Amino acid sequence: MAFVAAQGEFKRYKGDHVLTENDIRDHTRYNDMLVDNDGFFCIHCAWNPGEGRYDFRLQDWIMDVRDQQPYGIPFRCLYSANIENLLMAGKHISVTHVAGSSVKLMGNGAQHGVATAAAAFLANTHGTTPRGLYDAHLEELIGLVAKLNGHDHDPANPTATRRFVAVPG
Ligand SMILES: Cc1cc2nc3c(=O)[nH]c(=O)nc-3n(C[C@H](O)[C@H](O)[C@H](O)COP(=O)(O)OP(=O)(O)OC[C@H]3O[C@@H](n4cnc5c(N)ncnc54)[C@H](O)[C@@H]3O)c2cc1C
Repeated sequence: MAFVAAQGEFKRYKGDHVLTENDIRDHTRYNDMLVDNDGFFCIHCAWNPGEGRYDFRLQDWIMDVRDQQPYGIPFRCLYSANIENLLMAGKHISVTHVAGSSVKLMGNGAQHGVATAAAAFLANTHGTTPRGLYDAHLEELIGLVAKLNGHDHDPANPTATRRFVAVPG
């Protein structure tokens, strides 16, 4: 649940990795990268411009379009560090405040949703936890998410787009 309805601020859960603004700006690569995310930073401000006074209604926002290149989300941001059967997607994943202002975007959350659904399926199949998947079944998880998911960027040619086709089975 959002702390304040219809605002861009919300509770985030801590995973085994916490993605930061610098990770996004540097396009840090991870061994457990499951999906690409994309888009701007957009911090919603709960204050009146010029007044500096807190106001719970959305008054203003700070927008930074970055370099418009995709960045990776590691699996460790999608499961809880201390609740062994909790997976997170969308605005609640394990990121800092500024990083959260980008991963929260709707298309990004959808990518986490597919990845966490695949992780839940594999955790049930192997009778293990999300962290157990990271420890012992990471390649299988990456392979399954790659079949289900995709993005429209070609990192080698950022101005071109490409389309992935989901391969059943
Ligand atoms: C004002 C504003 C403008 C925005 N503009 C943009 C934009 O231009 N582009 C963009 O990409 N993103 C934008 N965003 C961000 C984006 O809309 C949200 O971050 C995103 O929709 C969050 O998706 P989510 O699935 O993580 O959470 P939500 O969409 O909040 O989904 C969570 C769902 O869980 C349900 N729920 C909560 N508790 C329970 C429970 N106990 N049991 C069952 N269900 C429960 C809720 O009812 C809700 O339907 C904006 C956000 C705001 C607030």
